[in-house]
Amino acid sequence: MLSQYADLCAAHEDALVLFQVGDFYEAFCEAAEAVARVCEVTLTERSDSTGDYPMAGVPIDNAAPYLESLLDAGYRVAVGDQVEDAEQASGLVDRAVTEVITPGTVVEDDLLEAGTTNYVAAVAADTGDEDGDSAASPSVGLAAVDVSTGECLVTSGDRDAMAGELDRIAPAELISGPDAPAFESADAERGWTVHEYDPRVFDRRAATDRLESYLPAPERRFETGPELRAAGAVLAYAEYTQGDDGPLSYVTRLRRYDPRDRLRLDAAAQRSLELFENRGLGASDTLFDVLDETSCALGRRCLERWLRRPLVDADAIRGRHDAVGELADRTLVRERVADALSTAYDLERLVGRVSRGRADARDLRSLHATLAVVPELKATLAGANGEGERGGDTDDEAADHPRTDHLRDLRDRLDELVEVRELIDESIASNPPPEITDGGVIREGFDDDLDALRTTEREGREWVADLEASERERTGIDSLSVGHNQVHGYYIEVTDANLDRVPDDYRRRQTLKNSERYYTPELKEREEEIVGAAERANAVEYELFVEIRERVAAETERIQGLADALAELDACCSLAAVAVDGDYVRPKLIDDADAGIEIEGGRHPVVERAGGSFVPNDVDLPRGSIAVITGPNMSGKSTYMRSVALAVVLAQTGSFVPAQAASLPVFDRLFTRVGASDDIAGGQSTFMREMSELTEILHDAGPDSLVLLDEVGRGTATTDGRAIARAAAEFVHDELGATALFATHYHGLTDLADERDRVFNLHFTATREDGDVTFLHRVVPGASSSSYGVEVAELAGVPAPVVERSRSLVAEDETDASVEGADQSTDERDPDDVSLREFLAEESADDDTTDSRPSASADHDTPTRGDGDTSTAEDGTGVDGTGVDETGVDAGSDLAGALRDLDLARMTPIEALNALHDLQSRLDNDG
Ligand code: ADP
Ligand code: MG
Repeated sequence: MLSQYADLCAAHEDALVLFQVGDFYEAFCEAAEAVARVCEVTLTERSDSTGDYPMAGVPIDNAAPYLESLLDAGYRVAVGDQVEDAEQASGLVDRAVTEVITPGTVVEDDLLEAGTTNYVAAVAADTGDEDGDSAASPSVGLAAVDVSTGECLVTSGDRDAMAGELDRIAPAELISGPDAPAFESADAERGWTVHEYDPRVFDRRAATDRLESYLPAPERRFETGPELRAAGAVLAYAEYTQGDDGPLSYVTRLRRYDPRDRLRLDAAAQRSLELFENRGLGASDTLFDVLDETSCALGRRCLERWLRRPLVDADAIRGRHDAVGELADRTLVRERVADALSTAYDLERLVGRVSRGRADARDLRSLHATLAVVPELKATLAGANGEGERGGDTDDEAADHPRTDHLRDLRDRLDELVEVRELIDESIASNPPPEITDGGVIREGFDDDLDALRTTEREGREWVADLEASERERTGIDSLSVGHNQVHGYYIEVTDANLDRVPDDYRRRQTLKNSERYYTPELKEREEEIVGAAERANAVEYELFVEIRERVAAETERIQGLADALAELDACCSLAAVAVDGDYVRPKLIDDADAGIEIEGGRHPVVERAGGSFVPNDVDLPRGSIAVITGPNMSGKSTYMRSVALAVVLAQTGSFVPAQAASLPVFDRLFTRVGASDDIAGGQSTFMREMSELTEILHDAGPDSLVLLDEVGRGTATTDGRAIARAAAEFVHDELGATALFATHYHGLTDLADERDRVFNLHFTATREDGDVTFLHRVVPGASSSSYGVEVAELAGVPAPVVERSRSLVAEDETDASVEGADQSTDERDPDDVSLREFLAEESADDDTTDSRPSASADHDTPTRGDGDTSTAEDGTGVDGTGVDETGVDAGSDLAGALRDLDLARMTPIEALNALHDLQSRLDNDG
């Protein structure tokens, strides 16, 4: 056995081999140590003639959690199953690797998250011998396959474009061709494992040969050599992991696409727009969560795909809007469709299992249950055949067909697959057992031979059941009983007291303590008949089942087509439900190079659900213009910018948008750059990252791009940051002509509006009501005044002379900063950018000497920040501690210093208010 194990290990060098021994998957030697460690199971020993060796195993019928641990620990697992019946084997049972489980190619439902995609991807690059200039920008081919559903995507482009695609596809595993550049995930959490797989599968000839079993004339289907080689390689790997028995018959849809046909959203944009992930502390929803009202896994996966790859074709977008609009209007139809879909199983994965020959009878029943909703869905959509009308749809809704082409098309694509449905219904028992080898799987009446066997078996059992009564009568032994056990089969049991009445034809089978067990020749004959019939029936059932499964598998493509239609229908219903519940509006798409963004009463779809009342804002952003947005921290700048970008993403996904009205162009790329302090995701030095992402924007954005820059330049010293922010804004405006929103705390940037045509200022303000400062979250034209700190101080009621003096001091500082711009060695601080802690440290030092200040203000300040951190006060940037007792103007300059020290950009509103209250009470006490 060990040498058999060693052979499998040698054939699967890069995997950990698990080996079926009865009810366990066992590993031996080093592998056993790994299994014991990772799965936390006991390491045992096994001995044979060659010696002792370590062994560790996991139970087969509960293998999933162990396999998951092994995958998480970075192992690929080759499963060596017994491939012949242990009882029939002469000598050692034959075993073979039936599957290699890897992060990117798992198909077990237990190991896959429902409603998600799980890709393995391959990349191949031009070796440069195909055309001369490939060295400049080598073409990279990318292919990804979801082995659980058979979806296969193929594309190509330059390195950066493919890096973006990989971020979007987010494969669990990446195999890399010999010449391919290295791709690292921009996102450590969703990252993939890179795997060097056999370089020969990337060979052009080998790839072409392989692809020929999937589609005719592969060379003509793919744009470039790298595409062809990546596709061939990824399929080779997928085949390998599925046990290497040739082409995967359910991979019927190799879809080649051009990344330029989709709105390009790289990982940074996905992240900063929080489409799928939300990293903030205590953060809850993402855009996807908001949009996901799907009823089944198919729809959920489809919606995710749509949101990862929004459209750029205006007609295609309008088609989705049409369908969403119609479903939004026809409430009853939508609800019925959603109800029906909620009983649909994951058809894509089911059909994958069917054609891999892995489906059991329950899977076929699930397939049947899903097919069974199709007629109902069609009728509901048609609105005519009773379904649509009965529930009291208005006349209007009883129209006899979908009103929009898109929905009509979806309805037409709902293939009822009547033959498949009927076949399963006639053949498979309605509540079959999980095993397909133990009978009970095939329905009575489906197969005459099987029925005859079952009749023989049943009659035999009935005869045995009657035997007890007839033998009691014949022998006169009232306590005689007939029983059955695994070892001896049927027997007649007679207690010792009655042994004298046992007839001659009884043969002794077994002696017990107080009784004897017998059989008769007839009982034996009947028993053989029963057992023989049952065994043969089970075998016939298995054969029939496999045949039925193959007949269903022959319809793989049609079932996949149905799955697609159901998925899209569900996704449209979900978007419609969200549009209705969230009061979204259908965006008007203006397919014109000059069209800008016009939104009335726009909202942020995620923030508005966080509770509290959301303040809608208008957007009027002509094409190619830049809005420079200023305002205090927490006033709503970032939220505003993101709501604009999200409206674009939503619209191009096919969704309605959270607004009163929206008119949008179609963008081809969306870039976001969020300054270091706003984006805490770790990894590279934040400033480095900021700059490399900025570089990407500056290289790739164009007139059809939407660019969001949020606090760019924050990650470095003020002077540099300011210079970079300004230069970037000028470049976006002058060179790229992109449409952009630029939120910044460098209000110096607001001058750009005077210098450039297509730059304008917007700002957010705060107001004072009943002595409390409140953020209005309302955007207004123009730049905010030069110092937010001073502005808010004024609102908080700081006396006018102080405010004026503060303002002029801040203005001086501003000018100094721009004059000294060249001096990069000083880590100079922004007036708005100095630590509140220093200011407060100074404050608490004052506390000891100045009794006149009300203690309440100190009370509500101190707990939130590190007490006793007074050392910073000595570095010279703090406030002059004696200022409180000076004259008004000096007190003003002192306060201006204090205000400058407020790191408003980093404070929460409550902190800011507390700090300001504090300042005010100092002034009040001063008289
Ligand atoms: P800034 O970028 O100016 O610092 P944010 O956009 O991050 O401010 O907004 C801070 C918080 O203010 C948000 O988390 C949200 O809770 C709230 N907010 C922002 N905009 C609005 C709005 N329009 N209506 C209601 N609350 C808002
Ligand atoms: Mg912000």
